[in-house]
Amino acid sequence: MTQALIDDIRVQFPALHQEVNGKPLVYLDNGATTQKPRCVIDALSDYYRLNNSNVHRGAHTLSDRATQQFEDARKTLQAFLNANKSEEVVWTRGTTESINLVAATWGRQNIKAGDEILVTGMEHHSNIVPWQMLCEQTGATLRPIPVKDNGELDMDAFTSMLNEKVKLVGVVHVSNALGTINPVADIIKMSHDVGAKVLVDGAQAVAHWDVDVQALGVDFYAFSGHKLFGPTGIGVLYGKEELLNAMPPYQGGGEMIEHCSFDGTTYNVLPFKFEAGTPNIAGAIGLAAAVNYLNGLDRVALEQHENALLARANELADQIGGIRKIGTAPHKASVFSFLLDGAHPADVGTLLDQQGIAVRTGHHCAMPLMNQFKVPGTVRASFSFYNTMDDVERLFAGLEKAKMFLL
Ligand code: PLP
Repeated sequence: MTQALIDDIRVQFPALHQEVNGKPLVYLDNGATTQKPRCVIDALSDYYRLNNSNVHRGAHTLSDRATQQFEDARKTLQAFLNANKSEEVVWTRGTTESINLVAATWGRQNIKAGDEILVTGMEHHSNIVPWQMLCEQTGATLRPIPVKDNGELDMDAFTSMLNEKVKLVGVVHVSNALGTINPVADIIKMSHDVGAKVLVDGAQAVAHWDVDVQALGVDFYAFSGHKLFGPTGIGVLYGKEELLNAMPPYQGGGEMIEHCSFDGTTYNVLPFKFEAGTPNIAGAIGLAAAVNYLNGLDRVALEQHENALLARANELADQIGGIRKIGTAPHKASVFSFLLDGAHPADVGTLLDQQGIAVRTGHHCAMPLMNQFKVPGTVRASFSFYNTMDDVERLFAGLEKAKMFLL
């Protein structure tokens, strides 16, 4: 991608153009949350300025407009994922809620004592704890699929763990802590062969490339809007229609009922059965604006640019030395996780912040993985397409300074 193209993109992201601690901001914390383009900010503002109303219930023009925009947003997300029907797109608060929804509904209906649930050893806590809770309630067993020392999933171990007792496999598409891209298509096929369903945590994947849920054949796919250049507090659970239809509701309340009486309540059709209460209307509209924005870009070129940023980071790390890379799998998204020899990650993060460079430090909500690497946490620079080569250079210049100060 040319510098001119990146500059054009950067103009769309107001938050990138500011000074932090007296230095131009270098934002390398995209794995935690992405910055928002103007069209998303405008969509939120326009909604609240002009169309603010509740959806699906008002008998007036504003409510009709809000409902139209809200349901159009669902169709935008359906097309984005290549889901078969918009009913398969359930709005949630984010990845965490999407996974909890599946564990609490599909899980309680289908998992029993003696069953096994497999998740990878590189999952975010969001794709561990809901299954642990389910296992506590049902007597099922949660088994971690081992991760190799380079951060790659051990597919041989996975193959040997698959058997008829396995009812669900939960796998992160891209590890937030390492950047490892997991072979989800193979995992889905192999799991289906033993009759297990698959939930993919796509929180870190959707920002990097287009996901096609039908091509993958995935049963459930979860992600958060705020990691996809959209607002916080909105996310998606994709589920296959027949699975969602068979599942009991998640929460009770308005919108999710067809008919309510003290003699018994019947539930609404998909996707409303899973959307109790007033939804995050502005969030859904804002997320659709983000997706429309991405649809107007050449996403393959953006991904290549991100890969080039990661390659440069690897080069510079080798040049300056004293850096232990955590996660060196051959297939990686643009996440550079590392330790500076002799320095605590939190100190490195603070010294980078003083130079206007935003990274994430800590366990990245992947404590089991950190335990495997025997580290308290890492420093993580996660690149997005609006980052530049100059950003990468600034990171390593910042690390040189941090080294002088700390070591
Ligand atoms: N899964 C992964 C891989 C993540 O990176 C994150 C957030 O960092 C989550 C799940 C949880 O996302 P949220 O907090 O938006 O629900």
